[in-house]
Amino acid sequence: MSRNRFPVPLDHGEINALLARQWVPPDTLARPREHWQRRLAILVPYRDREAHLRSFIPHLHDYFRIDKLDRHIPLHIHVVEQADALPFNRGRLINAGFALFGGDADYLCLHDVDLLPLWSDYAFPLHPARLCWYGSPNSQQKHLYIGGVTAISCEHFRLLNGFSNDYWGWGYEDHDLRLRMLAVGLRAEARDGAYRALAHPHNGFGGDGQETEAGRRNRERIEALHRDGFTAWHEDGLNSLAFRHLDSAPLEIDGRRWDQVTHHRVRFD
Ligand code: UDP
Ligand code: MN
Repeated sequence: MSRNRFPVPLDHGEINALLARQWVPPDTLARPREHWQRRLAILVPYRDREAHLRSFIPHLHDYFRIDKLDRHIPLHIHVVEQADALPFNRGRLINAGFALFGGDADYLCLHDVDLLPLWSDYAFPLHPARLCWYGSPNSQQKHLYIGGVTAISCEHFRLLNGFSNDYWGWGYEDHDLRLRMLAVGLRAEARDGAYRALAHPHNGFGGDGQETEAGRRNRERIEALHRDGFTAWHEDGLNSLAFRHLDSAPLEIDGRRWDQVTHHRVRFD
């Protein structure tokens, strides 16, 4: 028997229609005072995007110093670097970051290194929340997209068993997370913040709009999970995570040390 709260439907169209109904409006005006005392860990999955990191870290530092509400949030930034030659694995990196320091925070923000907040809302989320919409270069439908910048309580992240560890290369680990939410009956919050996106060659689609090899493999993987009833997530995530921790140290960029930022290096081979 499935342990899902309500079963994830097998048909792609049905899933999309169901996901579209699983959103709640932002709760900005109803927030109790304690929300601003919850500890935030920003997790940045990372490899080989040094130019982006050089812009991202000072930008975030300034944003959290001056934003009229978010400057009250106690936070630490964790750059989690995949220091091996395997294909990039965003979900597994975030899981590893959570395993290393999740106990020090009340909630997480899973943050792409190439999205710089202009106005946004990083407060504690009652529901897993998509923070970035305006400026996001993704072409997916708005009501399906939760990637890019996502806030989630540690409690909910554990409930979902984190991300799948098995999306290599590019894509669909965030869609898989939405299906985990659906399986346990967790809605999503759409905060629609505005970001500046830094340019990079895309790993999911070529310039001609053609799917890359990694994009196709991961799409076929999630389609197969749909067909099988999407129950494998119970065994694929935080409870099956494997990685090697190389080291953790304050991040240094161009000789400047950022005490609010820890750089972790991990390997998956
Ligand atoms: N990333 C990285 N190095 C890579 C691939 C991805 O650091 O080689 C990280 C980075 O934080 C990036 C995020 O994973 O913003 C998402 O990957 P990407 O930007 O390629 O995907 P997109 O969201 O643009 O489709
Ligand atoms: Mn990107």
